[in-house]
Amino acid sequence: MNNGKICVSVCAETGIEFIENIKQAAEFADVIELRFDCLQTNEIENAIENLPKIDKHYLATFRPKEQGGKRELSLGERLKFWESLLWANKDKIFWVDFEFDMSFVVNLQKTLTIASSHNFSGVPENLSATYEVFSITNADVLKTAVQANDITDSITVWKLLECAKKDNKQIIPIAMGEAGKWTRILGLAHGAFMTYAALDAGRETASGQITARDLIDTYRVKELDEQTEIYGIVGNPVSHSVSPFMHNAAFKLHNLNAVYIPFEVKNLNEFIAKFISEETREIELNFKGFSVTIPHKQAIIKHLDSIDETAKAIGAVNTVKIVGGKLHGYNTDAHGFIEPLTNAYGDLKNAKVAVLGGGGAARAAIYGLIKEGAKATVFARDLEKGRSLAEQFKIQNLGVKNQNESYDNFDIVVNATPLGLIGELENETPAVAEQIKNVHLVYDLIYNPFETRFLREAKSVGIPTVGGLAMLVAQGAAQFGIWTGKNAPLKEMSQIALHKLQS
Ligand code: NAP
Repeated sequence: MNNGKICVSVCAETGIEFIENIKQAAEFADVIELRFDCLQTNEIENAIENLPKIDKHYLATFRPKEQGGKRELSLGERLKFWESLLWANKDKIFWVDFEFDMSFVVNLQKTLTIASSHNFSGVPENLSATYEVFSITNADVLKTAVQANDITDSITVWKLLECAKKDNKQIIPIAMGEAGKWTRILGLAHGAFMTYAALDAGRETASGQITARDLIDTYRVKELDEQTEIYGIVGNPVSHSVSPFMHNAAFKLHNLNAVYIPFEVKNLNEFIAKFISEETREIELNFKGFSVTIPHKQAIIKHLDSIDETAKAIGAVNTVKIVGGKLHGYNTDAHGFIEPLTNAYGDLKNAKVAVLGGGGAARAAIYGLIKEGAKATVFARDLEKGRSLAEQFKIQNLGVKNQNESYDNFDIVVNATPLGLIGELENETPAVAEQIKNVHLVYDLIYNPFETRFLREAKSVGIPTVGGLAMLVAQGAAQFGIWTGKNAPLKEMSQIALHKLQS
């Protein structure tokens, strides 16, 4: 448990909507930021008069465009706003957030004052100097928000927490953007005064903002502390991953002081050097492990101290466990692939399985199938890839079939291509009904959408199906076991993953 606060920003053009949003924000927020710059000018006075009396702190903000506000505002307009409107209503507005320049001009009165600075293009070189200037204002709290174009950009702003601690000052350090999301999740645990949240998905007032519901229910940000074990998903992109929801639900059910965070990492070497490696890291976050996803599943191998037999044979690592500073690599994709398949089909010994695709997922699937005694055949459009897979695993390799060629000789057909994936490929399928009408089971590794066109083709001719969500959950559950030594709550992980995919 920490002492930090969750601030929900309210930004609406009309007074009615503004008040509605405030009532909604009150469900989650300790502090409600009233973004007066969002309101039409003629709505401001009315909105202030009608502010609901609630048991939360109101924080007034009137941001000019260059600082992330909704409109152009001259210094004069801003001064007028603060002096005439705010102070006339100071019984209703308790806390204020000024831009840096204002904190020298406006008489701060006896209210909590935040002096804030925003940089939307990157991290200014003089960030520490900004901090020094803040120290000589009368502001109670410094808010400094910078844009993290890469995860390593967030380190400088994070380090201000240490400076503030030494100087006995309050600070809100934020790295905006997907790559800085972790600062919004972990800030309170490391002494940040407050973290900002969006009222709802799609209503973010800054890039990388997380909804208040997710900050509280998924990431449990107010329960975290410096001892919290850190896990996460390392990849690019990670913004649509459902893994944080699955793993955090599992941590919560087991009552573990642990959190799982999306880490958008472009440069893996830099990430390992600056966040993970005991010898070179620049910040202390108590990392205990992470999932690895595209495009780093192979690149991570050179950073490991050990790699298990499965990961070595597949040539890819999707799980890292950190023990005493050493990194141990595993691959749970093969297990994740096999478990739902045996649940649906039974014993796979001698089952004839067509694996469509020759990438990483196909490789894990083939490894798992061979271990189970199945007879796998790979169908890859890149003949060279197919040939090399076939050679390594000593299986048959055939070119991609036309839609008039059937899979009649197979018991199971597995889609390990992105055909059918949400987005541009959603209406595609690696095989049509006619081709698969005589097989016993169809397995699509794609989990978004939950039901792909390939699965619909199979269902239309009465063939049983397994979707990719089952594999996603099973590989995640195996990761949870590796990290914690505990049984993963499969049912809850599955339910939350499905809910997130469908919302
Ligand atoms: P990958 O390494 O990029 O491999 C994709 C394979 O599909 C490659 O062999 C690629 O051929 C082939 N392919 C791409 N477009 C194709 C097309 N239009 N026609 C025929 N083949 C095509 O990706 P991956 O990691 O193996 O993932 C494959 C799928 O499995 C993805 O949709 C992913 O979402 C899903 N997956 C699911 C889980 C889960 O937990 N459920 C886990 C991992 C992956 P080229 O080499 O010629 O490009």
